Amino acid sequence: MESMRRRGGCLCGAVRFETRFAMGPVTACHCGQCRRQTGSYAAATPVPWDAIELNGEPRWYRSSETGRRGFCGTCGSYLFWEEGDGLAYVMAGALDGETGLSMDAHIFYADRGDYVRPADGLPCYAAERSGPEVNP
Ligand SMILES: [Zn+2]
Ligand SMILES: [Zn+2]
Repeated sequence: MESMRRRGGCLCGAVRFETRFAMGPVTACHCGQCRRQTGSYAAATPVPWDAIELNGEPRWYRSSETGRRGFCGTCGSYLFWEEGDGLAYVMAGALDGETGLSMDAHIFYADRGDYVRPADGLPCYAAERSGPEVNP
């Protein structure tokens, strides 16, 4: 069976990517860095870098000793987060058309903007998934 080819890219089209990797669920990250970078929260799913074909070069912001955030240098679209483990956390909103993906959790919910009111019934973790859940 041929796996689904998914394509995505930034708002202006200067950075495009595609992958056949079987993407897993999308996680909503409300950490302070994602909050500021996206204007609310990031919704991303991990894909190994070696399963991604990039067309165009994102710009990178080094957000921690091991982490960096890739965005389009022209239109500013947030595209990838990575932590130096060979995975790109691909922003689900950058994918073209129907993704067939579902969100499965909110993480770093304690750092969310206080205007966020999720009513999706998904678990909300104060920080990492390994830690305690909080009431939305
Ligand atoms: Zn762009
Ligand atoms: Zn985050």
